[in-house]
Amino acid sequence: MKPSANKSRKIILFPLGGIEESIVHSAAAFLENLHHFPFKCVVTNRRPIPIGTLDNQRQQYNCKQILKYYIKCCPDNCFRLIGITDVDVYVPVLKYVFGLAQLKGNCAIISTHRLRPEFYCKPSNKWLFQQRLYKTLLHELGHTVGLTHCSNRRCVMFSSTRIEDTDKKETSFCGTCRELFSWYLNGI
Ligand SMILES: [Zn+2]
Ligand SMILES: [Zn+2]
Repeated sequence: MKPSANKSRKIILFPLGGIEESIVHSAAAFLENLHHFPFKCVVTNRRPIPIGTLDNQRQQYNCKQILKYYIKCCPDNCFRLIGITDVDVYVPVLKYVFGLAQLKGNCAIISTHRLRPEFYCKPSNKWLFQQRLYKTLLHELGHTVGLTHCSNRRCVMFSSTRIEDTDKKETSFCGTCRELFSWYLNGI
């Protein structure tokens, strides 16, 4: 894989809503530092949470609607568009989600709302928060490339229904998912 050979090998990350920009930069740096990662990561301007996506009763944002909105915003010269927000997000069948991606699609949305230890009444821990962020990001990016959930609890593609699931995972793909990831990428 040749990183710079194709201009579409660029991933755009953007702050979605009021999230601290430094969090998005740290996510971009994580991806770029992955071994053999063939993309350039660019952080772009803050973008708004689309109007009408807040469910007043739940006091949560509909992640599917946000994703649908931003799917249309992915520039042609970019491989994937990933929004990172700090608001609480859900999809109608679930109480909450950590993120959502279009399978084999161009866009993903990640929420940090439930990644902070403080959310679970635990002391603040920047390292733990960042590990959770990186795992969620890589997981959703994996979905956009076509990876589905993995049965290996240590693999980043294992489905996280609770934060404990995320904490058990590595910040990387298992051997099988890594191979599939490269395979799907080379099929682009
Ligand atoms: Zn998933
Ligand atoms: Zn796996």
